[in-house]
Amino acid sequence: MTSLFRAWSRIRPLLEKNHLLICLDYDGTLSPIAPTPQQATLPKKTRHLLRALAETPSVRLAIISGRALADVKAMVGIPAIVYSGNHGFEVEGPGIRFRPRIPSSYRRLLARLEKELKKQLEGMKGVIVENKRPVLAVHYRMSPSKNIPKIQKIFRKITGHSALKKYIRTIKGKMVLEVQPPLDWNKGKIILWLLAKHKSAAWDKNTLPVYVGDDITDEDAFGALKNKGITVFVGRPRTSSAQYCLSGTDEVQTFLKRIVSLKSSKKP
Ligand SMILES: [Mg+2]
Repeated sequence: MTSLFRAWSRIRPLLEKNHLLICLDYDGTLSPIAPTPQQATLPKKTRHLLRALAETPSVRLAIISGRALADVKAMVGIPAIVYSGNHGFEVEGPGIRFRPRIPSSYRRLLARLEKELKKQLEGMKGVIVENKRPVLAVHYRMSPSKNIPKIQKIFRKITGHSALKKYIRTIKGKMVLEVQPPLDWNKGKIILWLLAKHKSAAWDKNTLPVYVGDDITDEDAFGALKNKGITVFVGRPRTSSAQYCLSGTDEVQTFLKRIVSLKSSKKP
């Protein structure tokens, strides 16, 4: 994977001449990973840059997170931009509101799974069972690594039953396992949906999507934007569908600063 900055001479003209739909993951992309989700706050300078981008006429900004919508909105705290929570299961922004229809059988089942997971994982150090509605997450970032196989086994035992297959979907993120509604929906689908919405809103036919993310769930977005935009993986290079990489949240901040300089008359 090429470092985005090494390919800058190729990327810069694309950013300059097109309207941009900039989609950013939150945890590990904008905010450094922290022991608990509440501690993963947005660096002040990054917020400043996001504000500048939000005020730039040729830029639309969307934060695409696995967190619940209300949670990610509170963490970023910038009004009038698009927020997507729960990997695309919740979307809100100026003139935009979207929730895929979720079967009621799923909601009932989720309450039961939440209870069962909490019961069986009770007392296991560092495990957090979080019902983000409609997604249920089992976080284990703070667990001793020797416990992780056991946590995964309990999760599989409770959610992997063949009778549940039609009613739920399970996914694995970074130090998290999740139960999701049984819909073909993910960060990739929501990005294409947003892109189509922007293009049809007569904003600009030549909107270039830019997607930056660090997680396994961001791969859906990288795949969806193949040959359509600029995709950037954050972290130590691994196999990824993204075109470019950045080493961490500091380099993401530098990238945002460069976009602000290119697109805005106001300097960061
Ligand atoms: Mg992330």
